[in-house]
Amino acid sequence: MRIDLHTHSRVSDGTDSPAELVAAAALAGLDVVALTDHDTMGGVAEAQTASEQLGIKVLGGLELTCQYDSVTVHLLGYGCQADTPLQDALDELRDDRLRRMPKMVAALNAAGVEIGVSDVEAVARPGATLGRPHVADALVALGVVADRQEAFDKWLDIGRPGYVGHYKVPLAEGVATITGAGGVAVLAHAWGRESRSVLTSDVIRGLAVSGLDGLEVDHQLHDADTRVTLRALANECGLIPTGSSDYHGTGKVNHDLGCNLTSDASFEAIKALIIQRGGRI
Ligand code: AMP
Ligand code: FE
Ligand code: FE
Ligand code: ZN
Repeated sequence: MRIDLHTHSRVSDGTDSPAELVAAAALAGLDVVALTDHDTMGGVAEAQTASEQLGIKVLGGLELTCQYDSVTVHLLGYGCQADTPLQDALDELRDDRLRRMPKMVAALNAAGVEIGVSDVEAVARPGATLGRPHVADALVALGVVADRQEAFDKWLDIGRPGYVGHYKVPLAEGVATITGAGGVAVLAHAWGRESRSVLTSDVIRGLAVSGLDGLEVDHQLHDADTRVTLRALANECGLIPTGSSDYHGTGKVNHDLGCNLTSDASFEAIKALIIQRGGRI
C-alpha cells in the first residue's frame, strides 16, 4: 500500500482545503493519507467525508507544537479522541498564536515593513491555526517578498526581525497528552532544522522509554545518511519508523504527496496501538 502519514491543509498552513487534499492524495495513488494540521484536528471530518467517494483511507491526526530544552519539536499524533485534555492544550496553543500575531506585525512594522493583522487574516481560512506561513503569504500578497521561502529567510526565521515565538507544549507532556487521548505519538522530522543538535540519539532513546511510539525517518529534511541512522535507532528502541511527505500544497516545494511513504507493517502497528488505547481509527 502507498501510505503517507503527514500532510497539511488550509486548516493550518497548507494551501488545499481538506477535501482538495484528499482528492489530490487519491490522484497521487495513495491508499492511506493522514491529515496532520498544526495544533488542530479541525479538518479531519471534512477530509474523512471527502474520502468516502474516493476509495482512500484518511487517518485523523495532528502535528503538535512542542518544546524540548531550547528548541521547537513537532510531534505527530494519530487517532486521538477530541473530547480529552488534548483539547485544552490545543485551545491554549490557538489562543497564544492569536496573541502572537499583533506582536509579529508590530515587529515587522518596527523593521519598516508595512503590514497589518488584517493582511494576515485575509490569507488564512477562518479558524485556521495562524502561524508564520500565513504572515509569509501576506508578505507575498503585499509584494514584499516573492515567496514563502524568501519571507522566512529575510523576515520570519529565528533571528530575523519578524520572529516571535509562541506557547509550545513541553515534549513529555505532549507525548502523554496524545497517548492519553487514545492516540499514537510519533516524533516528526527529528533531525531537521534546529532540533537535530538537541534531540540526540540518547535523548530519543529516553523518549522511547517514557512513552514515545514512533520516529519519522523518511522525510525531506533528512538526507540519506540521516535516514540510515534514524532507522537503526528506531529499530534499536522499538520505535515505529514512518515516512511521509509533509505536504503543504503549494506552500512548500519538494514535498509532493507520496514522496516518502510508511510501510504497511508500521501502519498496522500504529492502528493496533490506536485500537488498544481506545482511540479513533
Ligand atoms: P509557527 O509554528 O507559526 O512558528 O510556524 C511553523 C511552520 O512554519 C512550520 O510548520 C513550517 O511549515 C514553517 N517553517 C518553519 N521554518 C521554516 C523555514 N525556514 N522555511 C520555510 N518554512 C518554515
Ligand atoms: Fe507547516
Ligand atoms: Fe513539522
Ligand atoms: Zn508538518
